[in-house]
Amino acid sequence: KRLILVGPPGSGKGTQSPIIKDEFCLCHLATGDMLRAAVAAKTPLGVKAKEAMEKGQLVSDDLVVGIINEALEKPSCQKGFILDGFPRTVVQAEKLDEMLERRGVKVDKVLNFAIDDAILEERITGRWIHPASGRSYHTKFAPPKVPGIDDVTGQPLVQRKDDTAAVLKSRLEAFHKQTKPVIDYYGKKRIVANLHAEKPPPEVTAEVKKVLS
Ligand code: ADP
Ligand code: ADP
Ligand code: ADP
Repeated sequence: KRLILVGPPGSGKGTQSPIIKDEFCLCHLATGDMLRAAVAAKTPLGVKAKEAMEKGQLVSDDLVVGIINEALEKPSCQKGFILDGFPRTVVQAEKLDEMLERRGVKVDKVLNFAIDDAILEERITGRWIHPASGRSYHTKFAPPKVPGIDDVTGQPLVQRKDDTAAVLKSRLEAFHKQTKPVIDYYGKKRIVANLHAEKPPPEVTAEVKKVLS
């Protein structure tokens, strides 16, 4: 399967991705995780992306299209993939169509994590992540066994620099202005499935499985 996950920051894309990925043996490509890794490693890509990310704005289409084009070549992505956080603009969606057309494949489903903005601040400000894997926890909704420690590796968890109420405002603005049109773009192709992303994680998982079965 070739899937796109779209939704505002904190809607649960990163939480559902590993479950969907294991169920259907797909690769998981999260542009946000890749960009954060590049920023931490101070690669040329990271240096270019850092400022926009800290302000809660989107990084340039060319940068993320380049990352995805390269990542789609991975052997683990040949049987199918989950794109998490990409495309986020109509230009990115058009470029993705070209990339997939060149490879003779197309997107099967776009999972739209529909949720009210009002819920997102609590989700975002309580989020803790394990940077190496991208695993996310929540102080209230999904606490780790030991506070501040990743269940799987025992390594420390961190809070993202952009996970503040103030930066969330910009990220939501970017979502409504630039990413909502992406949902319409795929809506015209009749491949969008709307999820009730405000429900608890297991219920969202059940909806996803139903849509994909
Ligand atoms: P995204 O990848 O869309 O930004 P995450 O999956 O990282 O979102 O979720 C944001 C925060 O909310 C995390 O701390 C996560 O543990 C928590 N979370 C995810 N899904 C739910 C849910 N259905 N109900 C409550 N909290 C959730
Ligand atoms: P969230 O999980 O909270 O939705 P991400 O981790 O996907 O956020 O993205 C974090 C930041 O990385 C974004 O605010 C943006 O600056 C940048 N980013 C990630 N994906 C893209 C993309 N497809 N296009 C442009 N910028 C992106
Ligand atoms: P993985 O080893 O699973 O690929 P990484 O975190 O090392 O995970 O990188 C994830 C992806 O991010 C890479 O596959 C690559 O496509 C992309 N990436 C990371 N850094 C760069 C960079 N400097 N230029 C282009 N793409 C990059």
